[in-house]
This record gives sequence, structure tokens and C-alpha cells, in this order.
Amino acid sequence: MSTNVDASTSCQPGLHAKLPQAVDVLVVGLGALGATIANLLARYGVHVMAIDKAIDSPTMHGAIALNNDALRILQMIGITERDFDATAMPHVRMRRPAFGKFSMVNNLHGHPKFVSVHQHDLEHCLRQQLERDDCADMVVGATLTDFASKQDCIIATLDLGHGRRYSVETRYLISADGAHSLVRKLIEQNSKARIFAQDGNHEDMESTASRRVFLAGDAAYTAPPWLDQDLATGLHDAANLCWKLAWVIYDHADAQILDTYDEERRPHMNAMMGFGNFIRKCVTPRHRGPGLIMHGLLRLLRCVSPWPTYLQELGINPRNIFRRGLFVKQNKGEKLAHGSPLPQTRVRGSDGTTRLSDDVLGRGFALIGFGVDVSSFLDASIAAAFAAAGGSIVQIIHRGQRLHVEAHGAWEDLDSAFLPRLVSVGWAAVIRPDKIIIHDGPATDANRLIRESLTLLGLPINFLKFSLWG
Ligand SMILES: Cc1cc2nc3c(=O)[nH]c(=O)nc-3n(C[C@H](O)[C@H](O)[C@H](O)COP(=O)(O)OP(=O)(O)OC[C@H]3O[C@@H](n4cnc5c(N)ncnc54)[C@H](O)[C@@H]3O)c2cc1C
Repeated sequence: MSTNVDASTSCQPGLHAKLPQAVDVLVVGLGALGATIANLLARYGVHVMAIDKAIDSPTMHGAIALNNDALRILQMIGITERDFDATAMPHVRMRRPAFGKFSMVNNLHGHPKFVSVHQHDLEHCLRQQLERDDCADMVVGATLTDFASKQDCIIATLDLGHGRRYSVETRYLISADGAHSLVRKLIEQNSKARIFAQDGNHEDMESTASRRVFLAGDAAYTAPPWLDQDLATGLHDAANLCWKLAWVIYDHADAQILDTYDEERRPHMNAMMGFGNFIRKCVTPRHRGPGLIMHGLLRLLRCVSPWPTYLQELGINPRNIFRRGLFVKQNKGEKLAHGSPLPQTRVRGSDGTTRLSDDVLGRGFALIGFGVDVSSFLDASIAAAFAAAGGSIVQIIHRGQRLHVEAHGAWEDLDSAFLPRLVSVGWAAVIRPDKIIIHDGPATDANRLIRESLTLLGLPINFLKFSLWG
């Protein structure tokens, strides 16, 4: 649903009645990041209101590059690179005469490694998608001017133009209002909200109290401009935060899990900034001597395995992998790296259709049985608690396994990305809604895997009786 509070429509009688008095989440800013956040929340069934002071997204935004991770997050809201006229880049080159070049080719995790996209097209596509969602109120021409933290909500004040003011009560507020974020300024003044924020100088912001205001993307940090990955980094914030908020709003997780947003995302963002500075030093060294040494070293590394592939495919780019956060501590013998993203690959269903594996895992938690029907190892009560927590069970079999086992509803791993490369037949894994690995082990231990995973949500398992999706 969308509302335009521009002067041209402001005289419509009853317009204000259309605006809700209370919402679950208020998203400030409908740039590419804010619109993605609003779409993600609406997809989880959260009542979200997304506002922007501008009527339309700026057309002067230039072309930007998005990597496969960013495209994978857009996939979560049903948007593919074909929807916003992206052009896959066969070669991306960062070049200086003495330095040589990085070049990247190919697909990764179901998407081109890099695409070039007009940011305005992407924002337009995201807003269109949001308009179609009944859970979302999109209000343009509305400027956030202030907010106040109450015991169990935030009261946000909006300026609708022509002296009109409007207050909305929201359980949570997400600031996606860009590099000059007003929300961030208000927090700096008041130091009253639980935030995730850091500026370009690596100085921590004050964080206290209520866990109700969150900063994301450019509002939270400004990475060095030569990296050109700010939007991609912000999209990781979106994927990490939105499902946690949804689960807390649905009372299917304790609000404490929201602390893991900061815990998980801050190190990645720090690493991105460090990487940006490293690239700057490589590409534009301040002094000739160290510059020549650096260039020579990089040229040398390109001759020594495995560095050529590593450099060419930007393997040095920091990955969204967590050391601490919402996943079960890694134990000896476990095969998948807890706290890292599950790879994505093509899978084929019993009816012959080919899909991307994230789509098959769905929008909630997933328990994957590799080459085995893991549900046969689950007690009824644990299976019910998992389903209530928004969990689904998926079987992935190796290519051709269908020929010798009865595997209805199973998905063949067409590119052998999981079996046997990562795990063996008889293995199981628990995956978060943002496709981060929580736990893994033998499928015969499925009850333990689910129990230990659900415990992380901070609620007793027998509390999880009512289905998340109603
Ligand atoms: C030249 C250039 C090249 C870039 N190239 C790349 C690239 O290749 N890849 C990449 O990933 N990133 C790139 N970036 C970064 C990327 O463009 C930004 O990270 C991205 O635009 C940030 O999106 P955002 O939604 O967080 O903020 P913004 O796009 O700034 O959106 C913020 C929105 O909030 C609204 N707003 C602000 N204050 C209020 C308020 N008080 N009330 C209501 N609304 C408000 C604004 O109107 C605006 O629409 C580039 C940036 C630049 C400048």
C-alpha cells in the first residue's frame, strides 16, 4: 500500500485516516536499503510502515555494482537480477599500470558474481514490490523529525509538509536514512537507544537501554568510497536484522536475540572498512617507495598458487562469517562452519523442476537431511516445536540418488555443491532464515540438533506451540 503526502494529494479528505496509528516497525528511508528492509519484514508478515521525505527515488543515482551475496538477499524477497535490468559483468578490473589487474568471472551461489545495475531502477522495483504487500504502508513525502523512547514503544513524529504533523507509535524503528541520518544524530544527542553503529573513524557510538532503534547501511557506517560495496554491506544488515525482529515481534524469540545483530554485523563491517583502506593503499599509495614494494609483492603473489585465484576472484574480500552470535558453538567432528552462510546451488525436484536451494529452504528455519529423510529421526514434540518456530524440513539428495532410493519430495543437488563436497549421506544441518548455518551433525541426532538450535531463541521449547505463520 502506498500513500503520497505530497501537497498535490494532501487536500484529499480522510488522507490522514489512511495512515496507521501504530505499527510493528517504522523504517525511515526508502532508498534501496530501506525498501529492502520493508519488503523483508512484510514478507515475514510484520506490519511495517516505510517512509521517505522524497516523493521518488533520485534519478541521478548512477550505476552501481552488486555482488552475488547482495543478489542472494534480494532473492529472499522474490526479486531477481532480471527484475531490475541488471547486466552481469564478465570481467571486473581494478587496474594500475604497475599493479596489474583483478578480474572476476563466473557465477557464485546461484547468481552472477557481479552485476551492474542502475540504482534508481532497483529502488523503483523494490518500491513496486512493497506497494503490492498488504503488510506494508509506504508513505512518501513524510519526514521523520523526532522520536521518543517509551517503556515498550517508540513514538515517532513525522512532518507531512505544509505544517502538518503526525505521530505514529512503533515497537521498533529502523534507520535506513542514509549517510546523513537524522536518527543517528538524535541518538548521538540522547544516547537512549540500543544501536548498531560505527563511523568511518572506527569510533564506537554510545549504546544503552531499549533495543528498539537500529541503524542499518549508510546510516550506521560509511565505508571508504573506493570499495563501492556499501549497499551490498547494508543488505547484509537487512537480512540479519529482519528475521530476528520478526521472530521477537511474533513472541517466538526473546528480545535478547536482537543483541546478536550488533555482535554479528559489527566485525564484518569493521573488516570491510579495513579492507577498503588496504585497497586504497594498494591502488593509490601515498609514497613511491612503499607503493612500489606493495605493487611488486602483489605481482609476485599472482605467480604463487593459490594466490592468483584468490586475488582474481576477490577472495580477500571479507566475508559475512561470524565468530560469535546466534548459532551453536562449533564442536569437533562437525562438518559445516557454524555462523557462516550455507552455499546456494541448483536443485531439482521430483517433478523435474529446477530451483535455487534457498527458495526450497523457505523463509523460516530449515532442517536439512542430506541423502536421508531426517524427519524419521524426530520425536513428535520436537518436530511440532520446530514447525511452530517457523521451521521446515527439507531433504537434499545427491545427483542420481533418486534412481536407487524412494525419495519423494527430495531435491537433487545438481552441481554436487553439498553432497559429497561438504557433507556425506546421513548428515543433517539447521539453517537460519538468513541462510546462516546454526548447527550440524548426524541425522540420527536430529532431536539434539533442533533442541540446541531452538534454545538459542531464548524461550522454552514447550512454549513454542503456536505456529509462527498463523
Ligand atoms: C558514487 C557512488 C557509487 C557507489 N557505488 C556503489 C556500488 O557499486 N555498490 C554498492 O553496493 N554501493 C555503492 N555505493 C553506495 C550506495 O549507493 C549506498 O550505500 C546506498 O545508496 C545506500 O542506500 P541507503 O538506502 O542506505 O541510503 P540512501 O540511498 O541515502 O537513502 C536514504 C533515504 O532516506 C531518506 N531520508 C533521509 N532522511 C530522512 C528523514 N528524516 N525522514 C524520511 N526520509 C529520510 C532519503 O530521502 C533517502 O531516500 C555508491 C555510492 C556512491 C555515492
